[in-house]
Amino acid sequence: MSLPFDLGPRPHLGYTQSRIDRVAERRLDTGWLSSRSNDPNTRAYVIGGELIVLKKGSAVHDAAFTPDEARALAPNTETVFLGLFDGHARFGVGITPASAEALKTRDDLVVTDLRSIAIQGLVTPEHLPPLAEAKAMLHWHARHRFCSNCGAKTDLVDAGWKRSCSVCKVEHFPRTDPVAIMLAVRGNHGLLGRSGRFAATMWSCLAGFVEPGEALEDAVRRETLEEAGIKCGRVKYLYSQPWPFPMSLMNGCLAEALNDDIKMDANELVDCRWFSKDECAAMLMRQHPDGLTCPPPVAIAHHIIRTWVESDGELF
Ligand SMILES: [Zn+2]
Repeated sequence: MSLPFDLGPRPHLGYTQSRIDRVAERRLDTGWLSSRSNDPNTRAYVIGGELIVLKKGSAVHDAAFTPDEARALAPNTETVFLGLFDGHARFGVGITPASAEALKTRDDLVVTDLRSIAIQGLVTPEHLPPLAEAKAMLHWHARHRFCSNCGAKTDLVDAGWKRSCSVCKVEHFPRTDPVAIMLAVRGNHGLLGRSGRFAATMWSCLAGFVEPGEALEDAVRRETLEEAGIKCGRVKYLYSQPWPFPMSLMNGCLAEALNDDIKMDANELVDCRWFSKDECAAMLMRQHPDGLTCPPPVAIAHHIIRTWVESDGELF
């Protein structure tokens, strides 16, 4: 089949291809870490809950503060060592959401959420993966200050890569939550849905958390059946994406739909239907005659849909 649209070069998938070298062996080196926290070449991302603090620039803003600048902005909650960026240490520094909110009044700063930063290109792209790393890590710390085993306070150790309970000695490690996100396909049609949270014209892949004791492929089949009443057979994993809202890992898949009669779960979706490849191509290019759209390239759904639209052979 020949495509009706020239989709052009494949865009970058947001938050991937990090230039951070995590140098995990340095996380226990407290002397080295202490010296890095005062090195003028060190940089830090400053994050208060959902809000990221940026230094205002003309074309783009700067996400990376010197250690002194980061300390001067607001009292720091946790600090995590992200790794080396071009050989220099990079940290994530937490402040309270209230502190971040208060910084919105400053003329020399921009304080906004990470989705807006990514979609609007408010910083140069190399900052997005370490910002995702820092935001997810700081969120985890903010929710794990007490031991889930005994209730006592926990301490940040290993440069932020562990919390340790001083009473029962249980160690707690940063978590990421796997999500299955999939396009069920049947012949020349793919299944897209609309959540009530979406803009009125936006359609996307179905998605849901992988549950304990469940394989990714089974989560794909279960979620598609639960949300749309569509049974799936073969599942093909495509690629993954860190998604720091708050700390997920999106696992992108194609699934072979075995029926086409949709039974939508109205608690999960406000609409769900089949789209042809031609229609999906138009949505990806923002040229759909009814103004319907897919998520932007920063989101993995855009890439999953595009992989299918551009495929012309065996999918599974
Ligand atoms: Zn404990």
